[in-house]
Amino acid sequence: MPFNLPPLPYAIDALEPYISAETLQFHHGKHHQGYILKLNALIDQTDLADKPLEEIVKTASGSIFNNAAQVFNHNFYWLSLSPDGGGLPHGGILDAINASFGSFEEFQAKFNDCAMNNFASSWTWLVKNTDESLEVISTSNAETPITKDGATPLLVLDLWEHAYYIDHRNMRADYLNGFWALVNWAFANQNLTK
Ligand code: MN
Repeated sequence: MPFNLPPLPYAIDALEPYISAETLQFHHGKHHQGYILKLNALIDQTDLADKPLEEIVKTASGSIFNNAAQVFNHNFYWLSLSPDGGGLPHGGILDAINASFGSFEEFQAKFNDCAMNNFASSWTWLVKNTDESLEVISTSNAETPITKDGATPLLVLDLWEHAYYIDHRNMRADYLNGFWALVNWAFANQNLTK
């Protein structure tokens, strides 16, 4: 099988109290794993079977796109969080946020607004455009910015209910507070230089 579930880049309980081990057991071990198993079954014996994940996401449609994009989005989401994250941004990402949004507080308000008003199963992203400006965008279902010309994802927050319902029930705002305590600025800085 071409794709395997990447291990979490931290211990299963490392994101507590914001994201519980139980949530990660389901979200990583069942949901993310499920997308990988479905993708593998869909591309088995096809000419996509030996293609890199990003190429499949950029060229496929229907169920293959949905499962491949969900694999990509979840790979990116785990890296957007860190037990050593949170706090204020630093380095290049701080300068880029200030240049595009005016201040960290204005960026955070924009991201929160986008995430809170993002309807149904969706993702909220910080992306870099080709002119180096940063933008907060939301995508629905499995949609992902890597299919959009020139958008480089820097960070993502999963807003499907499976990401927070065990810990926070319907309280998306509480999950968002946890995101700000865990957000991986070092990962955003790595992506900024791509
Ligand atoms: Mn998810």
